[in-house]
Amino acid sequence: MGRYIESVCKMCRREGMKLFFKGNRCYTDKCAFERRSYAPGQHGQGRSKATAYATQLREKQRVKRMYGLMERQFHGYFKKAERLKGVTGENLLLLLERRLDNVTYRLGFADSRSDARQLVMHRHLLVDGKNVNIPSYLVKPGETVEIKEKSKNKARLNTALETVERRGIPQWLELDKAHYKGAIKALPRREDITMPIQEQLIVELYSK
Ligand code: SF4
Repeated sequence: MGRYIESVCKMCRREGMKLFFKGNRCYTDKCAFERRSYAPGQHGQGRSKATAYATQLREKQRVKRMYGLMERQFHGYFKKAERLKGVTGENLLLLLERRLDNVTYRLGFADSRSDARQLVMHRHLLVDGKNVNIPSYLVKPGETVEIKEKSKNKARLNTALETVERRGIPQWLELDKAHYKGAIKALPRREDITMPIQEQLIVELYSK
């Protein structure tokens, strides 16, 4: 599986927005984006007028990086979103939200989506009481996601759970913090995604 090798904070600076890769640190004044909210590199502070193509590309890169996906996977979600009924851009975001690694992050079992992916891949999670170690698994309403009994005492997990209040849990999910268990109450809706994403730009890019 491919992975990003650029420093995660540089990614935020390049994308011009906080992508919250570093858990608690992202909410403190140690956040690199808070201190230098311009692109990294020699010309990072230079102003250049972005073309329509550059704006669309940037938006796609933002969302792709936010969810920690490589181009092929991301494009696969776009193709799937196109085949679904409704608005393609919204479908794309809602599919990404339903990924098990994202749900693990949203429930507060991990500080970032990359930590969440590790939790899933290292078999610390049960979906409806069964082992699932596939980060791309798409959750469905009525399912539960919980931490395995033997994994509950992990210090990192507990720190993540203590700080989840900062970002809040979306309405389509419900957390039973005492039992390290989450429930999928409904499918996510567009308004549940509060990051400033313009998904129509991604549709325009891929429709060229
Ligand atoms: Fe991004 Fe978090 Fe680094 Fe800030 S601390 S630049 S939000 S990863």
